[in-house]
Amino acid sequence: QPITTDMATLTEEIDKYARDKKLEIETLKVREEYRKEFLGNVSHELKTPLFTVQGYLLTLLDGAIDDKNVSEKYLNRANKGLERLIYIVKDLDMITKLEVGDLSLNLETFNIVELVQSVFDLLEMKASKKKITLMFDMDYNSPVYVNADKERIQQVLTNLIVNSIKYGREKGTTEVSIENLIKNKVIIRVTDNGEGISDTNLPRLFERFFRVDKSGSRKEGGSGLGLSIVKHIIEAHEEKIYVESELDVGSEFSFTLEKAK
Ligand code: ADP
Repeated sequence: QPITTDMATLTEEIDKYARDKKLEIETLKVREEYRKEFLGNVSHELKTPLFTVQGYLLTLLDGAIDDKNVSEKYLNRANKGLERLIYIVKDLDMITKLEVGDLSLNLETFNIVELVQSVFDLLEMKASKKKITLMFDMDYNSPVYVNADKERIQQVLTNLIVNSIKYGREKGTTEVSIENLIKNKVIIRVTDNGEGISDTNLPRLFERFFRVDKSGSRKEGGSGLGLSIVKHIIEAHEEKIYVESELDVGSEFSFTLEKAK
């Protein structure tokens, strides 16, 4: 009797060991796939602007350099391409840090009303180019204090508002609102009346490099990383982010933050 029990235990243990090993190998395989896909995406993203810059430089070397007007135009375009490269590399750097959990939060108490206002000030020009009105339905004299990493939340607000401008319609609006929730939380909403997102694309929105319209977005100069950075930052705060959208009607991105006591 004891022998059979022992045998049974042993078999069970061997089975468990085999299951664990299999799981470990599966995990490693998934990780390897993920790494390959990431590298593939990165090189793809870098290729376009790199070839653009090279194209302008080669044309200059080919003789265009002798014409002052043309050379200035081409140098400007090459510089634009480099700016885009820097922007992508910065986003990649940020996403890598966020994904390996290498980015510690610098929590402080600050007035979110003031932060929204300063992001609006920075993006006013960009919005006015598309005649988009930035609206903020808050009383500037009534501060709302939150506990969060101010710099990262500034980035979240910037990414969301920039998107609402990029994917917004001409003469449209972007509205930011802040509302108290129960349990000492606030919810910050960024709403636009732009192109919206279809139900099929909505679930994939926060994936790295995901874009609804590859060519259209590229014209707008995005990296497809903005929303995944936003999601990582909010999740690092142990907060939530939501999106609601309707095609041709508009989108609303919202996230929660902890109110300072
Ligand atoms: P990108 O650099 O392409 O803007 P994001 O990660 O910020 O990358 O956004 C991913 C995609 O989600 C965009 O390419 C766009 O198709 C869609 N998107 C993001 N924000 C909005 C919005 N406010 N309205 C409509 N579509 C949006």
